[in-house]
Amino acid sequence: MFSVHVLCDPGEMEFGGIDESLDRIAGRIGADGVTVVAAGRPTAALRRGDGTGQRIVRSGGGLYFKPNADRYARTRCKPRPAHGSGSRDAFTRILMAAGRRELSVRALIDTRWIGRLAARDPSIATQSACGDVSPRSACVNHPDVAALLRALIADLADRDGVRGIVLRGLERPFDTDLLDNLRDVDGLGTAARELFGVCFCPSCAQSAAAGGVDVDAARRVAQSRLASAIDAGPTAGVTLDDWLGGNADLLQYLQNQRSAHVDFIRSLLTGAECDMAVTVDDSFDPAAWTRADTRPLSTFNVIARSPRSDGGAPDWSDLIHRCRGVCGCEAMISSSGSPDRDPAYLVRTMKYLADVGVNAATLNHFGVFDAHATVAARRAVRYASRTSTA
Ligand SMILES: [Zn+2]
Repeated sequence: MFSVHVLCDPGEMEFGGIDESLDRIAGRIGADGVTVVAAGRPTAALRRGDGTGQRIVRSGGGLYFKPNADRYARTRCKPRPAHGSGSRDAFTRILMAAGRRELSVRALIDTRWIGRLAARDPSIATQSACGDVSPRSACVNHPDVAALLRALIADLADRDGVRGIVLRGLERPFDTDLLDNLRDVDGLGTAARELFGVCFCPSCAQSAAAGGVDVDAARRVAQSRLASAIDAGPTAGVTLDDWLGGNADLLQYLQNQRSAHVDFIRSLLTGAECDMAVTVDDSFDPAAWTRADTRPLSTFNVIARSPRSDGGAPDWSDLIHRCRGVCGCEAMISSSGSPDRDPAYLVRTMKYLADVGVNAATLNHFGVFDAHATVAARRAVRYASRTSTA
């Protein structure tokens, strides 16, 4: 059964009108459900169809629902309500309005990027080997961040009408915003940019030391490599591990970080009491997630960015093959996927996905899109429903 969801941002939905947006999604597009951001990262979007008034919708991110205080009584990191556009209870209003239209609802959590989390408390933020502290990304190896995410999942899973939870922002173990908006960053090369994202915060250092890694030695090598990349430029086209040239201490540190990342995601999947989905890269390999020595994982989907249907697409058949028997595979289709606004683009994409064995698709931002995009989405959803009943 192929199902189609529309991803909704609460701030955009409120400006467009929650009822109007859901009428479009349920009636005119005909989607099976909505995936609604419940704890989101900072956002900014152009506002369409509103005369000459405010044209940009901004939110500092945070929680779009009133948290159940009991769930956070023991977490040192407290949930923070959203700031800016999107009311502090927009998620709940969307949840209730979607229920009246019999739309299935999933709640999305932006994990390490939840707005106002790291910004308000630098002690939980990602830190580079050089000691730079991220302004926005929280370190998921930090026990306080992990406890907050578990509490958020339990809080949302408890709510009437929430059918599942989507975790976004955990695609890569090394991910930070430290290099955002800096000039000349491309000249560093991929490997050096990735090394900037390797977290050396006290929690990560402690975890690596407990795993037998010489953290001080790993940090010194990382600092020296980053300095040489900035001063002299990188070797182009090498992976991070190759670029480190067999340095045992730093490679061991990276391996410890990668294992901790997988263990963390596994712990969220095994502990949850509702359907779970996790956004991944198309290089995702579930082999590491399914070790025999731990509890089996419950049913979950992975969501990867949809390949383009214009011939430049990465081949998804490998991803489907790797996921078979382990997890469902779902595609996230961006509303900006067709630069020339070709109305047949979505249908072609849906056909490709159904043919290759994907079991669901999520349309990003179509709930607030114009009539043109709405018609294209409706045609794609009709095609998908015919495919799933054929
Ligand atoms: Zn860390």
